[in-house]
Amino acid sequence: MNVAPDMSEDTIAAIAGGVGGAVSIVRVSGETAMAVADKVWRSRKSLIHGPPRRLALGRVVDADGAVVDQCLAVVFPGAASYTGEPMVEFHTHGGALVPRKVLQCLLSAGARLAAPGEFTKRAFINGKMDLTQAEAVGDLISAHSEMALRLANRQLQGSLSCRVNAVFEELTAVLADVESRMDFPEEHLDWMPPEALAERLRHVTGALNQLLAGRHVGEVLRDGVRLVIAGGPNVGKSSLLNCFLGRDRAIVTEIPGTTRDTLEELAHVRGIPVRLTDTAGIRETRDVVEKHGIDRSKASLKEAQVVLWVYDIRSPETGLAVGDHLSAAPVIHVANKVDLVEKATASLSLSPGHVAVSAVTGQGLETLYDQIEAVIWERPGMAEPEYAVNARHGALLEAALSELADTGPLMEQELWELAAVHLRSAAEDVGRITGRTASIDVLDTIFAKFCIGK
Ligand code: GDP
Repeated sequence: MNVAPDMSEDTIAAIAGGVGGAVSIVRVSGETAMAVADKVWRSRKSLIHGPPRRLALGRVVDADGAVVDQCLAVVFPGAASYTGEPMVEFHTHGGALVPRKVLQCLLSAGARLAAPGEFTKRAFINGKMDLTQAEAVGDLISAHSEMALRLANRQLQGSLSCRVNAVFEELTAVLADVESRMDFPEEHLDWMPPEALAERLRHVTGALNQLLAGRHVGEVLRDGVRLVIAGGPNVGKSSLLNCFLGRDRAIVTEIPGTTRDTLEELAHVRGIPVRLTDTAGIRETRDVVEKHGIDRSKASLKEAQVVLWVYDIRSPETGLAVGDHLSAAPVIHVANKVDLVEKATASLSLSPGHVAVSAVTGQGLETLYDQIEAVIWERPGMAEPEYAVNARHGALLEAALSELADTGPLMEQELWELAAVHLRSAAEDVGRITGRTASIDVLDTIFAKFCIGK
């Protein structure tokens, strides 16, 4: 990692969270962290001489010696801390004032207020984690769904890094081979046979493409999927929306045409964030307001990523009413009110691929969720992905792939020097994903998205 240690000699401090709660954490990190912390600490033992990684009880005092808080402190000496440098955390009383006063004491004692994400940035600079892991810390904090949380945790443990590192190593092996042909063209060193070299390059390209496929997962988890519930009036669209949400958000009535506007709500299907839109029932009408609602339904259908076309199982002909002109998105046909028909009738009247559900009894909902999940991940029965790729990783993977697309033909023509130029750029792009090579600008952009104290 070749990053200049910008201002990283400063000792930094910030409230790490919990303002307004019962307990708050104020952390200080840097070479002089223990000395700074000791200046504001009054207890039987100084923080420097107390046992590391154990909570100590004491008081924080201001410059005049006035007690600010009675609280706990824990010391992480040396590199065995989150940031990889000496750190002290004060577990103070919460509320609006106490943590701020404790922070103020630390700033007066010689610390500087930390920038957003600066603790994690230091962890990266000090080699405690790579860039994908540091980004995972941000993802963990902003996770809105169980699945996003699981993926962020896996990424923090290195699920993406180990794949990227494997590709990086393979790429540098190809580069080393090409460079040695360039440097010692006369001495047939231990080179790979040309076909093996080309095969290796294809393997690298395949692995990069596979990683890039994880971008879809990242987008889905970050932005959610726009799922539109549409169909004729009174077929149970609002009831189905309420099932997804687990509460009564939409008005359910027996009067056709009650939902006159589109309603948008966030729900989770198997941990996937889904932006649900309930639409006005689509039918011919003279009612001006309802007509307006129907126009909006058609507009939402155009923007949908997945459509649930709902119909009453007792009138199966309405189940086929959705046409391509309404939406280009994949459509799941939902035959609702299955509780109102005999089992035998239900299976007879159900078209292949349609899902029979009851928004009242909940019957069939799990099968519906299976189908939604399969459509979102584009592969039926696919297991939960191991990693997600964010926009930054995606752009670097694309850049590396475009360099490699140029490399193959050059290697075939034994234009080793030119091939090496592209291979080197590709390796640099791949290295940037984990931060083997990273500029201060890139780091600043990444960590600026974090909160102060993280
Ligand atoms: P929408 O106009 O398509 O949004 O339909 P609603 O959700 O307002 O439902 C219309 C009527 O059908 C209401 O009386 C609901 O209680 C009823 N309904 C909806 N789903 C079901 C179902 O699965 N089974 C039964 N028995 N009734 C349902």
